[in-house]
Amino acid sequence: MVKSAHNGCMDPISPLEQALHAARALVLADLVAGEVAEADVVSMVEEAVVQRRWWVEQWPDGVEYVSGLVAQDVQDALLERYGRWPLCPVCGSGDPHALDVEPELGPDPHWVCHKAGVKVAAVGALGSAAGGTPSS
Ligand SMILES: [Zn+2]
Repeated sequence: MVKSAHNGCMDPISPLEQALHAARALVLADLVAGEVAEADVVSMVEEAVVQRRWWVEQWPDGVEYVSGLVAQDVQDALLERYGRWPLCPVCGSGDPHALDVEPELGPDPHWVCHKAGVKVAAVGALGSAAGGTPSS
């Protein structure tokens, strides 16, 4: 399972790599839930992960925050190119609006709707929050 062919020693996967892998998987899960996991969107996630790898190398204490940060990076990148993501599944009426990550800089990030004032789902769990059934 763990390949260590590069350096030939028994290095386990570092907590940094684990956190980055987890962040990538969580954000991709939410993108799949929102049906926006197109090839170029996936590459936005890759890009965010690469940038956050650099960031965590500068600031190892930030390792717990990586999932929330990657989610926000991807959200920003999507806003420029596609529009709001993820749309709030809680508020049935009114203007469509995006969820926010909270805490912006902290462990255990969640998607929240500020309009309704509710925590919608953990980052990575949007699929189950929406009930898994498309409303159309
Ligand atoms: Zn809402």
